[in-house]
Amino acid sequence: MTQEPAHTIHVDGEWRAAEGGATFPVTDPATGEVIGRASDGDRADTAAAIAAAERALPAWSGATAYERAAVLARADALMRERRRDLAALMTREQGKPLKAAMNEVAYAADFLAWFAEEAKRVGGVTIPSARADQRFVTMRQAVGVVAAITPWNYPISMLTRKLAPAVAAGCTSVLKPAEQTPLCAVATVQLLVDAGLPAGVVNLVTTSRPAEVGDELLDSPVVRKLTFTGSTAVGKVLVARAGATLKRVSVELGGHAPFIVFGDADPVRAAKGAALVKFLNTGQACISPNRIYVHRSLYDTFVATLEQRIAALRVGRGDQEGISIGPLIDERAVAKMAAQVDDARTRGARVVAGGERLQVEGLGGTTFFSPTLLADVTPDMLVSREETFGPIAAVTPFDDEDEVVARANDTEYGLAAYVYTNDLSTAIRVTEKLRFGMVGVNDINPTSAAAPFGGVKASGLGREGGYEGIDEYLDTKLVGIAT
Ligand code: NAD
Repeated sequence: MTQEPAHTIHVDGEWRAAEGGATFPVTDPATGEVIGRASDGDRADTAAAIAAAERALPAWSGATAYERAAVLARADALMRERRRDLAALMTREQGKPLKAAMNEVAYAADFLAWFAEEAKRVGGVTIPSARADQRFVTMRQAVGVVAAITPWNYPISMLTRKLAPAVAAGCTSVLKPAEQTPLCAVATVQLLVDAGLPAGVVNLVTTSRPAEVGDELLDSPVVRKLTFTGSTAVGKVLVARAGATLKRVSVELGGHAPFIVFGDADPVRAAKGAALVKFLNTGQACISPNRIYVHRSLYDTFVATLEQRIAALRVGRGDQEGISIGPLIDERAVAKMAAQVDDARTRGARVVAGGERLQVEGLGGTTFFSPTLLADVTPDMLVSREETFGPIAAVTPFDDEDEVVARANDTEYGLAAYVYTNDLSTAIRVTEKLRFGMVGVNDINPTSAAAPFGGVKASGLGREGGYEGIDEYLDTKLVGIAT
C-alpha cells in the first residue's frame, strides 16, 4: 500500500486525510490490539467524494464497454495475485480464519471477473410498433453516481459485489465501508487504482460516523443510486431517506435461514453440512442457518453428529493453523449470544455443547464465544425469533411437512433457506412454498458471482451477481423513431 494508514480517504484519485484531521483506531478482534488508524471522514469529505464522482461520470460512462471490462479484468488478476496478503489483512482486521479469508478473496475476485464479461453484454432491444412509420429501440445507460455502503462481515467481497457491476455499467461511486474494516476497503480501492481505474470513478470515505456520511450521501440529489448491505434496521432507515430524492435502491439485509432435514435424508450428511455452513465466519453470515428443523425420526442421529462436529472445531486467532472459529466482531455480538443462550435455557432448550464466553489462552481478545448446540428449541425462544449472527446452532424436531414449512416461513426475513431430502417431489414442492430468495437443496452454498443473490420481505430488495446484478446500475431509455 502506498498511502499512510491515516490517509484512507480516496477522492479524485488522491489518498488523503479527513478534512477535519480526525482518525479512528482499527483493532484486531482476536487480540484487542490496535493495528492501524483510519481517517475519520465527515460530511465535507463525503461532499468532496460525491463531487469527484460527478466529475468523473461523463468520461467513465462514455468509455467503451471494452475499456471498462479491461480494468475489471486487470483488477481480477491483481486480486488473485494479492490473495494471500489481502486474506492476511482480513484475518487481522475482521478475525475470520485465514482459509476462510482466502476463500472470500477468491469469491471477491469472481465478481470482478464476472462483471468484466457482463460489461460487454449491456445491450438494448428493438420493439415492434403498432404504427408503420415508427420504430422503437431501447438503450441501457449508467444510473449515475452510486453510494455503496458495506458491512464488516465480508469486508472485501461485499465491496466487489457492488463496485464491479457499478464500474462495468459506467457508473461512478462513493464507497462507505463499515467502521470495523476500513483497511480492507483501502486495499480493495488501491487494487482498482493499480488496475488502471481512472481518478474519481471509485471514491472512498472511511469514517467512524456512519450516519453523518450516510446522510450526506442520501440527501445529495447527485447520488442516483443506493446499494447497501447490512442490517434490516439500518436498511429500512436508508431506503426511507433515499425516497426523498427518489434514488434507485438495492439493499441486502438480514436473514434468519431455516435448514430443514426431511425424514428420507441422510442425517449424517445433513449434520455435516449444517456444521460447515452454520459456523462459517463464526456464524456471522446473512445466509447462516439459524433455525434447524429435523424430522423426528432422524433427530437423535442428527444432534449426535452435529455435537461431534462441533467438538472438533477449534477456536482462536484466525492466522493460526487448524483454527475454524475466530472471534466475534465486538462485545455487543457476544452479549447477544449470551442472551439467546440464557433465554433458550430458561425456556427449556438443552445446551448440548458450548453456550459460554471463552477466553483463549495467550490472546487479549474478549469476544470469543464457544460453538454452541441448542436442542429442543421452540418457536417462542429468542433464538427462533431474531437473527443470531453468531456460532449458535438451534435444532428443533418436526413431524410433518406443512408444519415445518409454516414454521420456516414464520419470520419477517426471506434470504436463504436449506432443504435436505432425497425425494425430488419433496424438494420441488417445498422449495416452491418457501418464501426466501435462495434455496439450497442438499447444498450448503447456493452462492456464486454467476448467480443472483438476494432476499424477499425484510431481507431486501434487488439482486447482486448473476445476469441481474448489473441491471441495478442501469436505466432503460426508450427511443421512438418516426421513419
Ligand atoms: P449494520 O447495518 O450495522 O452496518 C452496515 C453498514 O451500514 C456499515 O457500513 C455501517 O457503518 C453502516 N451504517 C450504519 N448506520 C448507518 C446510517 N445511519 N447511515 C449510513 N450508514 C450506516 O450491519 P452490520 O452489523 O455491519 O452487518 C451485519 C448485518 O448485515 C446482518 O444483519 C447481516 O445479515 C447483514 N448482511 C446481509 C448480507 C446480504 O447480502 N443480505 C450480507 C452480509 C451481511
